[in-house]
Amino acid sequence: MDDIQLLFAERLSAIGVTMNDPERMTGQFEAYYRLLVEWNEKMNLTGITDRPAVYEKHFYDSLTLAKAADFSRISSIADIGSGAGFPSLPLKIVYPHLKITIVDALAKRIRFLEEVVSELGLVDVTCLHGRAEELGRLPAHRDRYDAATARAVARLAALNELCLPFVKPNGLFIAMKGSDVREELDESFHSLKLLNGELRDTLSLTLPNEGSARHLVVIGKKGPTPKAYPRKSGLPIKQPLLAGGAGKS
Ligand code: SAH
Repeated sequence: MDDIQLLFAERLSAIGVTMNDPERMTGQFEAYYRLLVEWNEKMNLTGITDRPAVYEKHFYDSLTLAKAADFSRISSIADIGSGAGFPSLPLKIVYPHLKITIVDALAKRIRFLEEVVSELGLVDVTCLHGRAEELGRLPAHRDRYDAATARAVARLAALNELCLPFVKPNGLFIAMKGSDVREELDESFHSLKLLNGELRDTLSLTLPNEGSARHLVVIGKKGPTPKAYPRKSGLPIKQPLLAGGAGKS
């Protein structure tokens, strides 16, 4: 392992994440990094390509999710708007038992993800090209997953409608947010109620080197998704479900 990989492993163990097969997992992260940089020359996957920054802002950041849930007790995850694979693929590398379903509306990102899955030899990862609003209505995905995740996809009021339909009753939705969540949380309570969610916790973190603030918003699912949701494609983001707002169905 080189310095960047050693620092990465140390930082993970500081948040309770152990790579129990370090040789294989370190190799998988490095292969992922190389594919990300190579494909990023042909398509827009990320603005971050500097190697230490990818390890911190994509790989480590994704794995901070382990502070919000015990992944040894979770078996299925739907990652909504996964883009270049964050946060679900770093989770899959470190917790190989997870069954991951990735949803992204952009076909070329799905092609990249399929390549990563195949090159890294990952199993039980399904990459779906489609909109969360449509896939969340299909019985195969609705109210099915132990957990849903989303990073950098939309504001919380919209995310609740995009992500909660995938979560089974008693499951979790964890939203990865940046520095300021107070206002987003306040405006999200109406959608949370309509989607049968309840706020469980908000965790504050800091990226160790870069120093910027992050928040993990942990939401529980109280019961099945009400029939009216998600509304048709585009509406959750264009007309989010806000108290007294135009977003009522
Ligand atoms: N989670 C990644 C990518 C964020 S970019 C990361 O943190 O790096 C947001 C991604 O969400 C894009 O790839 C976009 O195609 C996808 N997306 C946005 N709205 C969506 C929707 N309604 N259904 C599915 N994917 C969506």
